[in-house]
Amino acid sequence: MRHVNIAVFVPHSGCPNQCSFCNQRAISGRTKQPAPQDVIDACETALKGGCEQAEVQLAFFGGSFTAIEKGYMVSLLEAAQEYINNGFLNGGIRISTRPDFIDDEILYLLKKYGVRAIELGAQSMDDSVLALNKRGHTAEDVRKAARLIKKHGFELGLQMMTGLWGSDDTDSVNTAKEFIALKPDTVRIYPTVVLKNTLLGEKYESGEYAPPDLQQSVQLAATLLQMFEENSISVIRVGLHAQSDVERDYLAGAYHPALRELCEGEIYYRKMLSALEGKPKGSYEITVSPCEISKATGQKKKNILRLAEQGYCCKVRGSNDIKPHELTIRIVTKCF
Ligand code: SF4
Repeated sequence: MRHVNIAVFVPHSGCPNQCSFCNQRAISGRTKQPAPQDVIDACETALKGGCEQAEVQLAFFGGSFTAIEKGYMVSLLEAAQEYINNGFLNGGIRISTRPDFIDDEILYLLKKYGVRAIELGAQSMDDSVLALNKRGHTAEDVRKAARLIKKHGFELGLQMMTGLWGSDDTDSVNTAKEFIALKPDTVRIYPTVVLKNTLLGEKYESGEYAPPDLQQSVQLAATLLQMFEENSISVIRVGLHAQSDVERDYLAGAYHPALRELCEGEIYYRKMLSALEGKPKGSYEITVSPCEISKATGQKKKNILRLAEQGYCCKVRGSNDIKPHELTIRIVTKCF
């Protein structure tokens, strides 16, 4: 079934922190707090747009939803009730929040108002990285909140960042391992993008910090993506959405409109190279699922060119007999 997300951004409100990377105005694209009427308008617009035979979910993103003033939070949830009761929001409500603003009381309340999925901005499971980046919570807060969310029967989402100040590939891989142990339903991976008017922006401009570049971020995010996929955890986002506000405030980091495709291409390259390992140099035919030909080939045929540099002249073809993420290799001619 098609999935439709009706996104309502709730920027920064109620958040007592100032995380090193956060410029909510740029990330959410707006400074105005949404009113209950904005929730109704968003549902009405989606309703008129036609969402037949789709799972429709209202998503409160962009801030620390359970940290905002309780009366205001409830007023936003109440505005959605008509659409939950009439069946339009058949996917319920999705929220994202901080791990230190989750407890039994708030989870009972969210359940009552039709919230089905809760995403936690964990960012890292390394306490020193969390402290350096002024997250204001610990890895243990993430573990406790994640377990509580699952105990209450919600869908659990976990969000992580790579390339934060003081972070390296090892702690990102460890974060992914900890996530896998917490058994989330979904994960989002965000390579750090340094924005103006943030602590990381200051550190970047003073030369104290530089985020990994696009190529480094793709290498790491591909490894993480593969780890989650091998554990049947759905990665629902890699990289920030393309937004003019982010582009305006951008200073450095891996910001690319097709970041996920780049990571998936990298995964295919690794799979192809591993399948060719030990085989004689020569021409090969690589067969993948028809919908994955462009990923296997890579952007601008990058994977084919990289394999050719190693002595493997490869042609990629599609076959419905091959499942997505899988491939077969057949030698055409050997080099002597
Ligand atoms: S907790 Fe969320 S909203 Fe608050 S400063 Fe950090 S990233 Fe921004």
